[in-house]
Amino acid sequence: MAKADFHNHSTASDGRLTPTQLVDLAAKNGVRIFALTDHDSTEGIAEAKRAAERHAGFFLIPGVELSTDIEDDEVHVLGYFTFEALTNEALQAALARFREGRFERGRLMTERLAQLGLPVSWQRVLEIAGEASVGRPHVARAMVEAGHVAQGRLGARCGARPGAPSGRCLGGLGHFQRLTGGLDRRSTL
Ligand SMILES: [Zn+2]
Repeated sequence: MAKADFHNHSTASDGRLTPTQLVDLAAKNGVRIFALTDHDSTEGIAEAKRAAERHAGFFLIPGVELSTDIEDDEVHVLGYFTFEALTNEALQAALARFREGRFERGRLMTERLAQLGLPVSWQRVLEIAGEASVGRPHVARAMVEAGHVAQGRLGARCGARPGAPSGRCLGGLGHFQRLTGGLDRRSTL
């Protein structure tokens, strides 16, 4: 039976692997149905498509992950669509708004960290994010660099999921909140 993986992040958002590296790794591990679901961005999909075409029988599903707020919690919604829909103006405009929201929340998070006595440079967070949509793992890596938290602690969850190809294991919300002594959720990503 074909393996499927419907939830993957690349360097287009907060993953550690490029879309090409992710697709190649998934194919190598026997995955045949694969969705790229970066946070608030479809920027990695064109590259993933080129990579997918190199693997016979590999089916790529374009997707995205959106963060939503509900009372006292946060729900991440995975969306899947067709390649034709990628250029849909309303979709791309909505994703751009989501990315702006992430940018502002990331900046607020660094302010909150400074209040908690764990200052990190917002400029450095942006450098770490590079072209990607800024996210909590980028802030987490800046915290490691600043010496506020050991890499091993942040990486602990990755170790628990050896098959996880993306950066999804880095900086889960609850984990991150424990590390920072409890950020209020409005300032998290
Ligand atoms: Zn995700």
